[in-house]
Amino acid sequence: MTDGREILDALLGALDAWAEPHEPHPSLAPDAARLAEAMGEFTARLTAPTDGEEDGIYPFGHPRYAGQMLKPPHPVAWAAYAAAMRLNPNNHALDGGPATGRMEKEVVADLAAMFGFPADALGHLTGGGTVANLEALFVARELAREAGQTPRLGVSAEAHYTHARMAHVLGVEVVTLPADDAGRLDLDALADALREESLSVVVLTAGTTGLGAVDPIAEALPLCREHGVRVHVDAAYGGFFCLLAGSAEVEGFPAADFRAIAEADSVVVDPHKHGLQPYGCGAVLFRDPAVGRFYRHDSPYTYFTSDALHLGEISLECSRPGAAAAALWLTLRALPLRADEGLGPILAATLRAARRLADRLADSESVRVLRPPTLDIVGYFPAAGSLSSIDAASAAVFGRGMAEPDPVYLSLFRVDADRFPEPIARDAPHARILRSVLMKPEHEAWADRLAERISGLAAGV
Ligand SMILES: *Cc1c(COP(=O)(O)O)cnc(C)c1O
Repeated sequence: MTDGREILDALLGALDAWAEPHEPHPSLAPDAARLAEAMGEFTARLTAPTDGEEDGIYPFGHPRYAGQMLKPPHPVAWAAYAAAMRLNPNNHALDGGPATGRMEKEVVADLAAMFGFPADALGHLTGGGTVANLEALFVARELAREAGQTPRLGVSAEAHYTHARMAHVLGVEVVTLPADDAGRLDLDALADALREESLSVVVLTAGTTGLGAVDPIAEALPLCREHGVRVHVDAAYGGFFCLLAGSAEVEGFPAADFRAIAEADSVVVDPHKHGLQPYGCGAVLFRDPAVGRFYRHDSPYTYFTSDALHLGEISLECSRPGAAAAALWLTLRALPLRADEGLGPILAATLRAARRLADRLADSESVRVLRPPTLDIVGYFPAAGSLSSIDAASAAVFGRGMAEPDPVYLSLFRVDADRFPEPIARDAPHARILRSVLMKPEHEAWADRLAERISGLAAGV
C-alpha cells in the first residue's frame, strides 16, 4: 500500500474509535467564507509557476527534480505523522508522550544497531542534523573541560558549514583541515593537526552535503585514537548508506569507512534526508551512555509519571514532536533498516542512478563530470575552456532547465579553482558547477533521460 490517504484513513479510523467525542467550543470554528478564501490562496501559492519570485514550489517528488537534497516523505511516514499529530504528543517527557516516547527509544535502538553501536548507546531524535551535531559537540566540549583541556574541534573544509557555526555558539575553537581532490579529509593534514593542534574532537563526514564525499573514516579513526582524540561522525546525509556496507558489490563504495562508524564516539543521522521522513527529524547517538550526565537538569513541571528515563533528561531541546517518532517508527516497521528489503534496496537504486547518470554524462561531448560519485550526488559542468565560462554556462543550464516545457531541476554548487582538471584556465577563484542529488529510487529509470536533457542543454549554451 503506497496510497498515503488510505493509510491515513485507516490510522485515523483506529484513533477516532479510541477518542471520546466532545463538543468543540464555538470559538474554535473559523468563519467559513474566510477559511475558504484562505485555502484557495494557500493552494494557489503552493502551486504557482516556480519562475515566480516568491511563490510556487518545485516538483520535489518527481524524478525530473534532480536538484537539492529534497523529496517528499514516504506515504507511510506522512500518514503516521498526520495521524499521531492529531493527538500531538510531546516527546520531552513520558508525561507528554508515553507511547511515542517509547517508540522514540525503539527507533533510536534501531539506528544504533544499524551503525553497529552498542545496545546501551544513548540517543534521541532532534529537530535536524544541525541540532544533533550541536549536541555531539556540546558533549565533546564538556568532556574536554572535565579533562582540563581547552576544547578544540578539527573539521574538514568540506564539512557542513554548521559545525563552525555551532562551535561558535559553544565557544569552541575550530581548526579547519584541508580536503583532497576527492573532497575527503586529507589524512596527512589530520596527522599533523593531531600532533600540533591539541585537538579534543575531530568531526568526520560520511557523505558531504556538496558532492557526497565520505571521509577516510577507517584510517582517520585509529589515528585520532592514538592521540586520545574523540571522534564524531556527521552522517546526517549518508548515514543510511551504512546498510549497504556489508555487501561490497557497488564499485567505488567506501564500505570500510561506513563500517568504521561503529567505532566512533558519536554519530548523527538525519531521517528527514534518506530515512523517508518529513522535516524535522534528526538523531544523535553516543557510544558511552555515561555522557548523559552532561544533560542533567531538574524540571519542576515534568518527569513525574514514570521513574524511567525521560527523553528530555538527555536532550537539549524541551518540546519535541512525538509525531516525528511515531512516523519514523511506523516507517521502519514497514520498511526496515536492512540491506535486502526496506531501506536497503531504495538506497541501492539511488547509487545505481548516480553511477548511471555520471556514465552517460561522461559519454557526452558537452559535459564533463567533476569526479565519479561516491553516493548518490553527481557534480558536472558544461565543457568549456575557463572557469568563468564554466560558471556562466552552469548558471545558464540551471535556469534554462527549469524554464523549458520538458523541465529538469538541477542545483548549483561552487567549487574552488584548484579542484578543476588541467588545462581549464583558472581565471577565477572558483566556479559554479551543476549538481544533481539522485535520492529517489525512480531516478534510476530516469538517469538516461536526465543525461540526454542535460547534455542537450549544455550543448546549447
Ligand atoms: C544536512 C546536513 C547537515 C545539517 O542538517 P539539518 O538537518 O539540515 O539541520 C549537517 N551535516 C551534513 C553532512 C548534512 O548533509
